[in-house]
Amino acid sequence: MQQFHHYIGGQFEAGSAQFDSLAPATGRPWAKMPEASSADVDRAVQAAEDAFFAPDWADMTASQRGKLLLRLADLVTENAQHLAELETRDTGKIIRETSAQIAYVAEYYRYYAGLADKIEGAHLPIDKPDMEVWLRREPLGVVAAIVPWNSQLFLSAVKIGPALAAGCTVVLKASEEAPAPMLEFARIFDQAGFPTGVLNVITGGPEAGATLTSHPSVAHVAFTGGPDTARHIVRNSAENLASTSLELGGKSPFIVFEDADIESAVNAQISGIFAATGQSCVAGSRLVIASTIKDEFLARLKEKAEAVVIGAPDDMATEIGPLCTKAQRDHALALIAASTEAGAKLVTGGSAPDGPGYYFPPTILDCSEAPDAPCLNTEFFGPVLSVVSFDTEAEALRIANDTKFGLASGVFTQSLTRAHRMIRGIRAGIVWVNTYRAVSPIAPFGGHGLSGHGREGGLQAALDYTKVKAVWLRTSDEPIPDPFVMR
Ligand code: NAD
Repeated sequence: MQQFHHYIGGQFEAGSAQFDSLAPATGRPWAKMPEASSADVDRAVQAAEDAFFAPDWADMTASQRGKLLLRLADLVTENAQHLAELETRDTGKIIRETSAQIAYVAEYYRYYAGLADKIEGAHLPIDKPDMEVWLRREPLGVVAAIVPWNSQLFLSAVKIGPALAAGCTVVLKASEEAPAPMLEFARIFDQAGFPTGVLNVITGGPEAGATLTSHPSVAHVAFTGGPDTARHIVRNSAENLASTSLELGGKSPFIVFEDADIESAVNAQISGIFAATGQSCVAGSRLVIASTIKDEFLARLKEKAEAVVIGAPDDMATEIGPLCTKAQRDHALALIAASTEAGAKLVTGGSAPDGPGYYFPPTILDCSEAPDAPCLNTEFFGPVLSVVSFDTEAEALRIANDTKFGLASGVFTQSLTRAHRMIRGIRAGIVWVNTYRAVSPIAPFGGHGLSGHGREGGLQAALDYTKVKAVWLRTSDEPIPDPFVMR
């Protein structure tokens, strides 16, 4: 079996312990992964801290950091297909999506490469005549970046890119479920020419995560994952008082009014819930549909859902591959059972096929008569759509906002005025109007409530990896006057 390695202080290590990674398409082990002990985590943080203060990084100009990030972006482009194949093998995500997504990940590094020397301080018009006061923006320090298994090269780029642009150093912990793409990314990063220890990549489960996020040398924790794990992270940060950014789950409403372009809305809904086998934090998992067009819309959705090509993730023709883990599939089955028990009606799908791998079909649950069904407020992280209908715009907004999450949302309407009212009223970090599941390094991404806090992508994300230092410089040659009066 192929053996993967940690990347600590510029060295590749097999780790003090190892575990098998399972291929979701077969359920069988395919590679050996290193598992970080607390001592490994400690060494990785130490390497990042040493690198943070070492002159070859600390004294490097911002423009030079940008050039290194550009080189990294080019290396990601050159290796995109290889990384995509690894991600598909380890996570089960279809090659059609991984190859397109990883090619685009390079754009995130290019964006932050360009931003590195545009992170500016400020000069203040201070209210004292003999003083110059300005603000320096300095890097936060060692960043602990923790990512889940889905879209991990993308979710790490939105952390590593701005953190390195700002001058921080990083310890990235990949998910224990499918760490191969991140451990391979470390090999690519190693060729870019950054000083030793600027990025360290390890993997392991909750124990490694807890040691990393509570480590006294960590200044910031950038986390993507589920809300329950986020609560651990916040508790751990009581130890080091690190700042946190939390990108968590969602139960995003996908709202379709009767004046919508139905063909377009159906396709966007298919993409919003079935692409990536539904394992997407922004999945449009609650269809909120005008009651006048519900039957027609559901009939079209059902037809398309049943025509989806389910198959091996490494086949370009496949549209839905397996879920990443057996636990994901068991969770979907249990939640569907509890929801049908509560009155939700199965429109299509709902049961796992026989045979190897963690496959699960596109599933639609009509909850119009079951407003309390658990599928309406619990994240599946799988290809399961829950449907509710509405009669008025006010009701559509009430249903859309009836969630503790607040990550993404979609609105389909031809009415400009209604679109604006919905944009204002929806409580979510992203509103897509007449489109869905579009991302860019230029646009901030994130949510509130159970979906977390902080934003990734965009200019602000780079500033979030800096702290402000206020500098006071007295310009008078006269002796300091009365020492017992504050200046
Ligand atoms: P998870 O929360 O179980 O795991 C995420 C990461 O946290 C993994 O690396 C895991 O090892 C680590 N971890 C586990 N326990 C820890 C602890 N005690 N301390 C520190 N780290 C710990 O999430 P998952 O099941 O792998 O991923 C799915 C979740 O991620 C979903 O809720 C999904 O919506 C969310 N997600 C959010 C976004 C976003 O950008 N908002 C993107 C993708 C996924």
